[in-house]
Amino acid sequence: SVWKGLPHRSTWCSVTAISGPDTMHVIYGGTFDPIHHGHLRLALEVSEALEVSRVHLVPSHIPPHRGNTGASAAQRLEMIRQAIAGEPALALDEQEVRRGGASYTADTLRQLRAELGPDCPLVMVVGTDAFSSFDRWREWQEIPGRAHIVVVRRPGSELPVGSEAAQLVAERCVGSASELHSRPAGQVLELAPPLLDISATGIRRRIAAGRSPRYLTPDDVCRSIRAW
Ligand code: ATP
Repeated sequence: SVWKGLPHRSTWCSVTAISGPDTMHVIYGGTFDPIHHGHLRLALEVSEALEVSRVHLVPSHIPPHRGNTGASAAQRLEMIRQAIAGEPALALDEQEVRRGGASYTADTLRQLRAELGPDCPLVMVVGTDAFSSFDRWREWQEIPGRAHIVVVRRPGSELPVGSEAAQLVAERCVGSASELHSRPAGQVLELAPPLLDISATGIRRRIAAGRSPRYLTPDDVCRSIRAW
């Protein structure tokens, strides 16, 4: 069969082993309420496109004023742990939940930069839907100094022409992932991997209507949702 010919994961990783130690740190943030196969596939696509051995999922802490319609922070962490169990390319970073309050990417990147040191390439992954309002993020002007930005094109969410986000892409855009490995921060790479048309909002709606979320998110996550 086709699958028989697929190399084992360790063979994939040897590509990066040849080009030296793989130190680039990649984060992918979101509310993950709940995490679903759209998020998981994207994280894996990004790890392969950037040739890194791991992508760190960073769930944000939902501030109290957002209400309690979705899952608690503890539940969202638990679902992520279940979803990535056994997948070495995906890891969970709990720092925003631990910090509490409103989660700002600028704070997260400052903390990671302090931990990783000034020379380690650091990347944040963001979809065009979230990145469109980049100039309304807290301390957004500091962000390119702290990390590279990988912008994932989501169908139906183009960056508004003339926006700060579009301008940043135009000014800092590089053509390949290898250019991110060669500097600690400051560049933008656009990716357009195949995406699954799944949203957490759609899953929450289904659950509220008594319908099944199965096959949109891993079975273990479905079981937890049912148990809650
Ligand atoms: P919600 O429906 O509650 O807004 P969501 O499913 O869009 O949630 P978020 O946690 O808000 O998920 O998204 C975090 C990040 O994941 C964003 O950068 C977003 O662009 C990206 N993302 C969300 N859904 C998908 C998907 N199906 N494929 C790829 N990326 C996605």
